Amino acid sequence: MQIEFDDIGPAKITQLYAPQIPLRAVVVIDNTARGPAIGGIRVSPEVDVEEVYRLARTMTFKSAVADLPHGGGKAGIIADPKDPNLEKIIRTFARMISGLTEYIPAPDLGCHEEAMAWVLDEIGRVAGLPEELGGLPLDKLGATGYGLAECAEIACRQAGLTLSGARVAIQGLGSVGKAAARFLAAKGALVVAVSDSQGGVHNRDGMNVDKLIAAKDAQGTVTSFDGGESITGDDLFQVDCDILIPAATPDVICERNAAAIRAKLILEGANIPATPQAERALAGRGVLIVPDFIANAGGLIMAAMEYAGKSAGEAFSVIDEKIRANTERILVKARREQLLPREAAERIARERVKKAMRYREYSYP
Ligand code: NAD
Repeated sequence: MQIEFDDIGPAKITQLYAPQIPLRAVVVIDNTARGPAIGGIRVSPEVDVEEVYRLARTMTFKSAVADLPHGGGKAGIIADPKDPNLEKIIRTFARMISGLTEYIPAPDLGCHEEAMAWVLDEIGRVAGLPEELGGLPLDKLGATGYGLAECAEIACRQAGLTLSGARVAIQGLGSVGKAAARFLAAKGALVVAVSDSQGGVHNRDGMNVDKLIAAKDAQGTVTSFDGGESITGDDLFQVDCDILIPAATPDVICERNAAAIRAKLILEGANIPATPQAERALAGRGVLIVPDFIANAGGLIMAAMEYAGKSAGEAFSVIDEKIRANTERILVKARREQLLPREAAERIARERVKKAMRYREYSYP
């Protein structure tokens, strides 16, 4: 995929290189007409400019649909998150982006709250800080998983499902996956399959979520949980379930596995977890998909609330209200106008961004 410059962005693509560290990174600021761009720093050996651009665009849409006074941006640091020099890498990265004042760094894969404290130290501009520094620790609080469970309740009605008793499969039992499992189980859903980078586990009768998370925390993988049978990461996509939640890496739902997916509802916990072709093929089979920038907006909303000086309680009620309303609105619009939910959501987001750009015709970079 090529980077497409369209009527909203991307405004800036900055490549960073510091051979003495070594540090290689990219920052994409997609659009800031609605305000400074809050976007995570992804640390991964595989991250590249295109992925960062696609994630930055997702953040533009996520902020706009959630009606936050923010734009969209993202950063990628090409490194192993377990690199013993990670602090030096992140601190150097932060210093090198000190002039990109329209970008507010936040946590993402491989770069959690502790790293935000280093960024704060260096440039004083950050969201997603640890509690001890006045932050709302969105992963510890489970902001995104909480939002996914609220989204599930509304989307189930549209998909002809009842959340209580619905069977859920989750790819990636990390911060998002664990919180989604907890909040969904609290609403009566059965978690029947989960996976992580080392494999998965399946039990058609549902698993004890607390014990599952305890096993993952103790041993570092869900494969250590003895309350189900072992499956591979690929098997997870073929499990008989009602709701599938990809909560790991990009493009995991693709032409290769879309036909085997048995879920009636997919909630995109990860960013860009499905290729556009796979999303279209699944929709053609009647599978309802709530796109990433609606379903997983809980983390961004909490980061924006932290930036605005709000409390965790205030943040949770805003997540609740916005995600439920947006899920309903987008799914109804999609049905009425014969659009994919992603297309319906994108139309609303683009319209809001373009309106902000018209107001800021002369100040916009
Ligand atoms: P995390 O690092 O805490 O967890 C990721 C999990 O995915 C880990 O358990 C890992 O083992 C697993 N994983 C990695 N590769 C896998 C594979 N091939 N198959 C199965 N599992 C695999 O990350 P996270 O914060 O939970 O984020 C997960 C996704 O959600 C990312 O795409 C992130 O951008 C997105 N997201 C996160 C938040 C947030 O609040 N943390 C908000 C919005 C979107």
